[in-house]
Parts: sequence; structure tokens; C-alpha cells
Amino acid sequence: MPEQPAPKGNGKLLIGIIAGIATGSLLGGLWPETGASLHFLGSLFVRFLMMLVMPLIVAAMVVGISRLGDIRRLGSLGGRTVGYYLGTTAISVLTGIALVLWIQPGRTGMEQSQESFSRPDAPYRIESGMVLLEGTRLPDLDPSAYSLRLNDRNISASVTKAERSAEGTILTVESWNRRDETVAAPRGNGLGISLLRRAEERFMQEERGAQDILREVVDGLVPSNIFRAMADNEILPVILFSLLLGAALSMSGEAGRAGIDFFISLNEAMMKIIHLAMYLAPVGIGALIAGRLGEAGGFAGFWPELRQLSSYAFTVILGLAVHSLLWLPLLLRIFGRTSPATFARNTLPALLTAFSTASSSATLPLTLECAEEKNGVSPKTAGFVLPLGATVNMDGTALYEAVAVIFIAQMNGIALGPAELGVIFLTATLAAIGAAGIPEAGLVTMVIVLKAVDLPVEGIALILSIDWFLDRCRTAVNVWGDSVGAKVVDAGTRG
Ligand code: ASP
Repeated sequence: MPEQPAPKGNGKLLIGIIAGIATGSLLGGLWPETGASLHFLGSLFVRFLMMLVMPLIVAAMVVGISRLGDIRRLGSLGGRTVGYYLGTTAISVLTGIALVLWIQPGRTGMEQSQESFSRPDAPYRIESGMVLLEGTRLPDLDPSAYSLRLNDRNISASVTKAERSAEGTILTVESWNRRDETVAAPRGNGLGISLLRRAEERFMQEERGAQDILREVVDGLVPSNIFRAMADNEILPVILFSLLLGAALSMSGEAGRAGIDFFISLNEAMMKIIHLAMYLAPVGIGALIAGRLGEAGGFAGFWPELRQLSSYAFTVILGLAVHSLLWLPLLLRIFGRTSPATFARNTLPALLTAFSTASSSATLPLTLECAEEKNGVSPKTAGFVLPLGATVNMDGTALYEAVAVIFIAQMNGIALGPAELGVIFLTATLAAIGAAGIPEAGLVTMVIVLKAVDLPVEGIALILSIDWFLDRCRTAVNVWGDSVGAKVVDAGTRG
């Protein structure tokens, strides 16, 4: 089994990054204001990385394609890559679904919080614009911030007034809706209500469905202006353009030689600049962590939120751990013929950068560097698998979306059958493919999964407070999945 020796200097860099993380956590955790004031240093680091992404993608892809030798090999490389992406994303969603059904985080604790109030057993009666809850006393809340849901009817309403009465509570309702459409008021009695804090406008307005995501991905492949696509950091069209350019240069014989040489030297130069970025990483990562923890109010602000959602956060993190510490290393050993421990150690700078930036795209320069320079993945595979993976292969995001959606259903006492679980499996996979490699993109595409199984979009408000933290965890897994993929595909190509 070929082992990748840890290159010289890697140890020092890792110690630097770990020291940066420790200092950043302490500063942001104990002195939130000081931590938050360091945010600008972190943003500088992210911008430095983002500045490299576009030229790097073009150079890495052109060089990769030109090294394939025979352009027809692109077909098998593409086939393996897509097979790996889809296979691992499916494994990760299934892992998430199995764990959330087993642990049932939505059934434990947190029945009542600032974000939601759920009474699956409360009887209700509807009478002329009002819902009467006999025997149920609601906590003091501002009703206009909440939306009422009748669990047994799959219908929601906006509440304008909540009054306590001798028998229980009277809710005045404005309009009723189902699947975003206003419907006539329901009648009669029923069982089970939930009050959910209304989600932010950005989620309520998300109108895309699963098929729209697919269309957008295909549509977004071809821009009318490649420079505008680059300026807007749109990775997919730039990948397509670079593929075409690399293929065309390779097929041009002598005339293409100068072009290929140009991109080979551009690629070399980009790698040198990324090397520099590595030295900035300890400070950049530390500042990002200090800034974000500071913004969350330090440890004192963050812990209560994490504790309140602890069983949900635990389920997501356990799922991510099973996927990244069990399934992916197994694939790496069997198909990549590589020791997972050494591979992980060499990939650590990229993983920690992913954790601190919450962006697969911004991490791409380091992901490429770790794969090529430290883990010995050939440039022809890395240059193709990693840029594409940074936008479409998101194991962590897919797992998180499935867990979050089922958690929201559990919180509302909504049972999901095998058909709905099947829809969640498919849409979570698609939503992860459609999510861009930027912070919290997965949170927005999750609306698509919720809508596909008719769950309330308001449920997002439940998980919002700690999403910034889970976003970092899943981004690290996304980057880990891409890196393992590069090695597995590379080993397959070498035969
Ligand atoms: N932040 C993630 C990434 O860049 C995407 C997500 O929000 O899940 O990979």
C-alpha cells in the first residue's frame, strides 16, 4: 500500500494552525468584543483565498486535461467522478436519515422554547376566525411573530392575537394557507397544534422546487459572458469553459503548445501563491473563529443555544462523524489504496480552513495544494475532481439537510412514511448539489426539501441559531469528501 509521507514543514504548519484555533477560540469565547473586532483579519484571509480561486480553476483544469494524453480519457474520468459523487452523497444522506430516525432528536426535550411551542395532544376548536385551545395555556409570546399549525390537517395560519381565557387560550387568526396558497378557513375540532416562530423573509420567499434546482444547474453551465461569470465567482460555467479550452488546446498539436505552456506556468505560479496563503492560515483561521464566536456572544452566548438544540446538533455531528471517520476512510483504503490517517493528516490544513471559512469554494486553493503536493494526487485528476467537487459534491450538506428536515417534522409531531423519506432522500441530494460552496448555502436550499414533503418552512427558525456552527462542521466534511474522491478517482485512473 503506497503511503504518503508527511512532507517537511507540515508539522510546523499544523502546530501553527492549532495554536491559531486555540487562541481564536479563547479570545472570541471569553472576550467576545475583542474577538468580533478581529473579524476583519479573517475576512482578509477569505478574500485572499477567493482571489485565487478563478485563475486557479482555469489553470488547474487546462493543465489537468492536457496531461490526460488522450482526450477520450476524459469520459472515463468524468464517469468515475460523477459515480463517486453520487454514491458517497447517497451513503451520507442514508446515514443521516437512519440516525435521525433512531435518535429522534425532535421528540426529546425542547418541547417549548422561544422558537416553538408544540402540543401534539392538545384539542382545538375552530370558530369564526378563532382557534380555541381548551385546557392549554400558552406561554407569553408576541403572537404576530408566530405561525400556527394544525398538526392533523397540514394547514397553517398567521396569528394576530393570543388571549388567555378561563378555559385555556383563544387565538385570533388572520388567514389560512396550505403550501403557500391561501385557503378557506377549516372547520370543526381537531387534535395537536404547534406554534412556530416565523422564518426570515429570505426563507419564506424561496420559491424554487427540486426540478428548478436541476434546471438551474444545467442552465448555469453556459454563461453569455465568461468574464462576467468569473467576476461573479460562478464556478460551474468556468469549469465548463476551462474543460473546453484544455481539450481544444490539447487537440491543436503544435499550435496549442504555447497555450498549454502558458497555463502550466500560471498553475505553478498559483501554487506558489497558495503556499503563501498556507503561512497566513494560522492567523486567518484564528481570526475567523474569534470573530464568529465573538459575534455569537462568546461561550456565554453560544452554550445556551447549543444546549437547547443539543440533541439535534448531536445527531448532525454524529452523522458527519460516521460518514467522515468510517465510510470515507473505508473507501479511501479499499479503492484509494491509501492509509486514511496519513491522508487525513496531510489534508488537515484544508479541513481546518473549511471549518473556519464555512466555504468549500474559498478553501479550494488549499484543498488542491494538499491533494497534489502532499497526498500525491496527480494534477490531471485533482484539477478536475476538486473544483467540480467544491460546488456539486457536498456530503456534509446533504446529510445535514436530511437530518434537519426530519427533525423539524418530529418537532411538529408530523409522522413521515417511507414515501416521504424517499422524497427527502432525493431532494436532499439534489439540494446539496444545487447549494453553492459558500456559508449557509445549505440552509437556503433546505427550503426545497421542506416544501417537497409539505413541511412548514417556518421550521427553519428552530435551527437557525446554531446553524453557523453546524455549517462549519459540514463544510469540513464536504471538503474531506472531495479530497477522498480525488484520491479514489486517481487510483482508479492509474489502475
Ligand atoms: N457552507 C457549505 C460549503 O461551502 C455549504 C452549506 O451551506 O452547506 O460547503
